[in-house]
Amino acid sequence: MKHAEQVTFGGGGLERAAHLRTDPAALEAAWNSPEAQVLLMWRGKPLTRRETDADLPGGLAWTSPAHPLAADCKDAALFLGLAPGGAPCFACDISGWQPEDLDQEALNSFADASEQQHPDLPASHAFAELRRVMTCLTPLEAELAATAKALLAWHRSHGFCAACGAPSDMAQAGWQRICPACKTPHFPRTDPVVIMLITHGDAVLMGRSPGWPEGMYSLLAGFVEPGETLEAAVRRETFEETGVQVGPVSYLSSQPWAFPMSLMFGCAGEALSTDIAIDPAEIEDALWVSRQDMMTVFAGEHPVLRPSRQGAIAHFLLKNWLADTLD
Ligand SMILES: [Zn+2]
Repeated sequence: MKHAEQVTFGGGGLERAAHLRTDPAALEAAWNSPEAQVLLMWRGKPLTRRETDADLPGGLAWTSPAHPLAADCKDAALFLGLAPGGAPCFACDISGWQPEDLDQEALNSFADASEQQHPDLPASHAFAELRRVMTCLTPLEAELAATAKALLAWHRSHGFCAACGAPSDMAQAGWQRICPACKTPHFPRTDPVVIMLITHGDAVLMGRSPGWPEGMYSLLAGFVEPGETLEAAVRRETFEETGVQVGPVSYLSSQPWAFPMSLMFGCAGEALSTDIAIDPAEIEDALWVSRQDMMTVFAGEHPVLRPSRQGAIAHFLLKNWLADTLD
C-alpha cells in the first residue's frame, strides 16, 4: 500500500539509537545535554500543551531533565531515542502523583475526556488520553508517545520474572527487564492483531462489540494466535465472529497501537460468502455496508452508523477504500 506509513502512529523518523541503551556514560551525557527533553507520563497519558481557548491540545509538552518531576525519576527514565537533529528524548512515569478531585469515573470511561494538570507544571500543560489527542500530534510526537505508553504499560504489568517469579529490574534504559535471581532477560511485548477490510463486491463487512457507543461499527479484528500466519488469522477471526468465509488475503498497512501494547496488521480480504451468523460471545452485531452508505457514514449523515474514530487504522483503511487508494 503506497500510503501505508501515513497512518497515525505510522512513524516519525525517531532514531532509536539502541547502541546507547547499554552505555551508561553515553546515557548520562544524553540526559545532561542542553537539548535533552523528557516526556512526562501519568497513568498512560502523555503531557500535552494547549494554546489558549483551543478545544484540543496542540501537541506534546516537553520538560527539562532538570525539572524536579523529571529529576526525581531519572533512575527509571526510558530512553526513547534521538529526534531528527539529535535531541535525546526520554520518558518518565509520574503515575504515583494523586491529583486533587480526581474523576475516577471519567478515567475509566470509553472516551476519557478528562485532563489532569499538575501544580508544578505550566497551566497550559495537562495529561490527556492518547486516543483523544492522537490526531493532534506530529508523526514524531505520535511515535514517541506510543513508544513511551507501550513500554511503561509493559513495565507496570511485568514486574515479576516469568521464569521464577522473583521481582525483576528494569535494564537497558527501559528496553529490558532482568531477573536478579535467575538472570533471565525479558523483552518488551508487542501483541500482533489483525484488522481486516473484508469486502464482497461493493460492500465492506463491519462489526460492533458490546459496550461500544451507539451506532459505532468498525472493521473486524482479533489477536494472532501462536503458530498462525496473518492470513490464517484474518480468515479464522472473520469466520469465528461472523461465519463469513474469506479467500485471498493481502497485507495493507500496520499501526503500533499502544492500548496497551499491540501492533495492528491491516489486511484486505475477499469474502467467498455473504451470510452472517455472529458469535455473540465475540461481537454484538455485524453487517455489510455498501460503498455509498459508507460515504454517508463518513459524511456524518448516516441515520444509524457513526464514523469510526479518526486516527485508528480502521478509519484509515476505510478512507482509502472509499478513495480507491488501497494500492
Ligand atoms: Zn527469574
